[in-house]
Amino acid sequence: MRKTSVYIETIGCQMNVADTERAASRLRIAGYELVGDSESADVVLFNTCSVRARAEQKVFNRIGEVRKSSRHGKQIVGVTGCVAQLEGGAIFDHAPGVSLVVGTRATDRLPKIIERIRRGERRILDLGERDEDEVWDISPAERHSPHVAFVPIIEGCNKFCTYCIVPYSRGRERSRGASEITSEVQRLLRSGFKEVHLIGQNVNSYRPKTETGLEGFDGATPFSRLLRAVAATGIPRIKFTTSFPRDFHHDIVAAIDEHENLCDWVHLPVQSGSDHILHLMRRGHKASNYMHRVEAIKNARRKISMTTDIVVGFPGETEKDFEATIELVKQCQYDSIFIFKYSERKGTPAAALSGKISDSEKTARFQALNEVQRGIQNEIYASYLGKTVSVLVEAISTRSTEDMTGHTTCNKVVNFGEGADLMGQIVHVKVTAAKQHSLYGALV
Ligand code: SF4
Repeated sequence: MRKTSVYIETIGCQMNVADTERAASRLRIAGYELVGDSESADVVLFNTCSVRARAEQKVFNRIGEVRKSSRHGKQIVGVTGCVAQLEGGAIFDHAPGVSLVVGTRATDRLPKIIERIRRGERRILDLGERDEDEVWDISPAERHSPHVAFVPIIEGCNKFCTYCIVPYSRGRERSRGASEITSEVQRLLRSGFKEVHLIGQNVNSYRPKTETGLEGFDGATPFSRLLRAVAATGIPRIKFTTSFPRDFHHDIVAAIDEHENLCDWVHLPVQSGSDHILHLMRRGHKASNYMHRVEAIKNARRKISMTTDIVVGFPGETEKDFEATIELVKQCQYDSIFIFKYSERKGTPAAALSGKISDSEKTARFQALNEVQRGIQNEIYASYLGKTVSVLVEAISTRSTEDMTGHTTCNKVVNFGEGADLMGQIVHVKVTAAKQHSLYGALV
């Protein structure tokens, strides 16, 4: 009998990618076939992100496109993830062709939900909690890469920054047991994976219910103990993202110093350099507390590269506040920054704040900050010229089919000629050219 085919399109962050991988694992175990295009699929699922209003709009545009396809009416169309969780049943009104809406914590129930629709139920809405005994594992076949794996360690967020929708879409923080995480990393190592990314909205807020799996691993926080436990598996590279500044303990740097396989890269979103704006954002840290963390990172034995996220044009941001951000960026000397123009999210406290900044002013601040960072970044990237870096070979470069591409331990993209037979291996590359966002070199 022909298997029911499912196409899942992911719109969003690493957590969404990991959720898609998990959903695909469950569906395949339940007997579904996973396919790579929406046209041929019996079931089309959009796994969605709602952090930015634009991503949310994209989902509805894509649903509209699928409805225009020749198979319209014969396909089951569903929305999963953050947009599903936030919009709930309103999606059925907005997009009448949708027959299932499944929230962020109900992924494991997807096979049964699809089955019910196939048996004739018209519409199903499931925004419920995860089942207590739910397994977080993902089958290697469903991973987005055969070399680098995302391993969720915590989901949800308790921080309620005033501009952010995540605590509403992903719910409260829930940490995964340490032994489950280390077992997954060991399995990944045996399957040939070279790098794991421990992921979560705030990885360093990690607080599992029990000590199981952390016994014998010292550390000042459960997260730094987990880092040491994962390092002990022997997987060659461990990266982690995202870290929340207030919970960033110096012991994380100590763990990186102790273990070569804990990579020399920290992503620590500051969002603003102004205490006034940080207070309005309810970030729980001041610029000075943040700088103490940065100092600890800069004092590490190995040089650790740093990246951050910054929002410009938050309501009430004065010229002076913005200058404080520029000043902080100059002091931190980030390897790269992700700048976002503040975009209002309905239902968040920041949406009700006065002192809105015009779009043109947001753009001007974006460009000014980008310009400052460009200078810093050019110098940092140029400092790699002539140096040899370790690169995990991940793919053929999208720019030139002659080149291979991969990342350093400090998460910089490196392209180099030759080496198609080295896919999945860690190689040494001597840097011969530096661009703003990548390095270029030759195999050593
Ligand atoms: S820490 Fe703040 S910005 Fe990050 S997910 Fe939580 S609420 Fe959103």
